Amino acid sequence: SDDYKLVSRKWKVNPTSIDLGDGVVISEGDMAIMAGPCSIESEEQINKTIEHLKANDVRIMRGGVYKPRSSPYSFRGLGIEGLKQWYKAAREAGIKIITEVMQVSQIEEMYDYIDVYQVGARNTQNFNLLDELGRVDKPVLIKRGISGTIDELLYSAEYVFSAGNENLMLCERGIRTYERASRNTMDINAIPILKEKTHLPVIADPSHGIGIRDYVEPVALACIMAGADGVIYETHEKPNEAFSDGQQTLNFRDSEKLIAKIRKVFELR
Ligand code: PEP
Ligand code: MN
Repeated sequence: SDDYKLVSRKWKVNPTSIDLGDGVVISEGDMAIMAGPCSIESEEQINKTIEHLKANDVRIMRGGVYKPRSSPYSFRGLGIEGLKQWYKAAREAGIKIITEVMQVSQIEEMYDYIDVYQVGARNTQNFNLLDELGRVDKPVLIKRGISGTIDELLYSAEYVFSAGNENLMLCERGIRTYERASRNTMDINAIPILKEKTHLPVIADPSHGIGIRDYVEPVALACIMAGADGVIYETHEKPNEAFSDGQQTLNFRDSEKLIAKIRKVFELR
């Protein structure tokens, strides 16, 4: 059959947990928090972010070193050297790293310096990239495509899973609709639907989902009530100076408030 199978709840009833080591586990019945800047920018920024995460007991840091930018003239990331610097600081602090892999050649290049490969919304249907990530023994987070359906996201996951990598999670990050009042339309519907259809952890990205700093918190909390197993969002010491996505990035004070509310709302669920 050409339907997806291995990622479905019909195939595997027990929810998949992803163990990143050192007690960091992403699983149903827990609430994973992944936070950090849109782009890794400097050693100082890395250190400040790590300090913020540690102070709030957040163990997974996000950040891009290869950035998919709409314009080729925008900042496109520090690349592998930036990742190596980040890795050194994160390892010392006991922080895990999730970062976007944009093409096949970067899989091996990044391998020693990351904990989770992120497949960005522009690469959700890069099937050769998915095939190769299926052959790697490190976890993968797949974002929903910019105009992708829920089933298309599940088919993308099936590529990775069927190629042999079962350490997989999915991420709803908003889709493109006719609505222009927000950057994307966060499809909160997708969360309970995915939770029913698949055993894979479902992560919400409210930063890209709405694209407006002031509304990241309410959207994040709604996603938790909808059943998300984790939240990934953007934070920066000085969001207005961020090299990318500053308009949707929380400062550390607002990030700290959000973390507290995420944990509180999760307890209510
Ligand atoms: C990001 O996480 O910064 C990013 C580029 O996300 P997306 O692929 O969802 O646009
Ligand atoms: Mn971003």
